Amino acid sequence: MITSPFWTDQFPRPADLPVSTELPSHVDVAIVGSGYTGLCAARVLAKSGASVAVLERETIGWGASSRNGGMATPGLKQGLSKIYKKYGPEKGREFWQASVDAIDLLEDIVREHAIDCDWSRSGHVALAAKESHLSDLESYADWIKSEFGHPMTKIPRGEIREEIGSDRFFGGISDEISGGIQPAKYVFGLSRAVSELGVKLFEGSGVESVHREGSRFRVITGQGEVAADEVIIATNGYTDRTLPRLKPKVIPVGSYIIVTEPLSLELQDELSPKRRMYYDSKRFINYFRLTPDGRMLWGGRNDLSVDLDLEESSAILQAQLTAVFPQLEGVPLTHSWSGRLGVTFDLMPHIGKVDGVWYANGYSGHGLSIATYLGTELGLLISGQKERSPFAEIPHQTILFYRNRPWFLPFASRYYRLLDWIN
Ligand SMILES: Cc1cc2nc3c(=O)[nH]c(=O)nc-3n(C[C@H](O)[C@H](O)[C@H](O)COP(=O)(O)OP(=O)(O)OC[C@H]3O[C@@H](n4cnc5c(N)ncnc54)[C@H](O)[C@@H]3O)c2cc1C
Repeated sequence: MITSPFWTDQFPRPADLPVSTELPSHVDVAIVGSGYTGLCAARVLAKSGASVAVLERETIGWGASSRNGGMATPGLKQGLSKIYKKYGPEKGREFWQASVDAIDLLEDIVREHAIDCDWSRSGHVALAAKESHLSDLESYADWIKSEFGHPMTKIPRGEIREEIGSDRFFGGISDEISGGIQPAKYVFGLSRAVSELGVKLFEGSGVESVHREGSRFRVITGQGEVAADEVIIATNGYTDRTLPRLKPKVIPVGSYIIVTEPLSLELQDELSPKRRMYYDSKRFINYFRLTPDGRMLWGGRNDLSVDLDLEESSAILQAQLTAVFPQLEGVPLTHSWSGRLGVTFDLMPHIGKVDGVWYANGYSGHGLSIATYLGTELGLLISGQKERSPFAEIPHQTILFYRNRPWFLPFASRYYRLLDWIN
């Protein structure tokens, strides 16, 4: 079994991706991190005429943006009822609409730059893992319909086989606006698109510190330094102490994925007749789908830590997989890998500034379309094409005594496991 992402194994970073080696002395905007957030901000800024450098510690697209499940679904990680309660209906509506617009934006970007990334709007199904969860899902669908006029379909248990080749679930709700993508093809396509717009891409250029000097910033990398009028930190789950005051605002949480060998067309049709994106209703959720080449991809975790052994985690994931799809008993796995989510204490994505430096992060595992959207928002805000974003207007809190190591994660893991067991 290969312990690196299937997506980059299938589609490695293109050898002809134009990366630069010599840092310029000055750019209008320096962007730290080359995932969807950084590249989408770069795209807007370059189009507005700014000179932009994207500085990546590893290789372009190395982070979560080439490792994820490739499932673009509406909503945010935080539930909308909680969002409404906390921020009121007006903001709540803006957040929901942003999540819907984010999927359209992703599709527009893919079309505009002719990115060949297997994007397909095949819809998603949220599945009730316990009988009591079905009424919650159905009430959510009713509420979304009445509040936004957005249709979702209720799937009673008796009809679930039309959606999934499993008897493990108690029903669910489906939404046609969701889609699937090959995430590595998307991130490498984006990189090529921004480089064609004039953005300079740098690899092996970990940013060590950022210093304010007058109206500019000095960005120090392992390969030298660059002066910039604006700096964006787009490092999400890989955020380090480059800006010590940013680190405690985002918690790195591990997410783990396995994929099987390609399945016969007959078995694919049985397991996923409509090629949906799926997730279940547990706190430690499982998310899964068929890959464009017909493998079952199965993601999740039963621990929040970032460094679980990949052999061990694949055994846990495989047991979950075959409990849902007994048809896959004995089907060999080909890949097992992990990546880091950037989770916030309020489960909301945020745009903000720390010490004059911009950032967007906190997608909490729901960042394929939302990072695309927030990166774009950042670009629009910095280039003056937009005056406000709801994601920049909510407090971004941390907790006392969290500076570097998320010491509370083992306690949170136990708590969530207990909740999944009880409820
Ligand atoms: C296993 C997994 C499955 C997921 N599945 C889904 C899914 O199905 N649907 C969905 O919506 N979301 C999913 N997500 C979340 C989604 O992938 C992320 O929210 C999104 O990719 C974040 O993009 P980003 O650009 O902000 O960060 P990333 O793509 O993580 O990029 C951050 C980059 O910053 C670089 N970096 C860090 N520090 C420095 C430094 N000091 N100097 C230079 N570079 C630095 C890192 O090397 C990294 O490449 C998943 C995530 C994971 C890990």
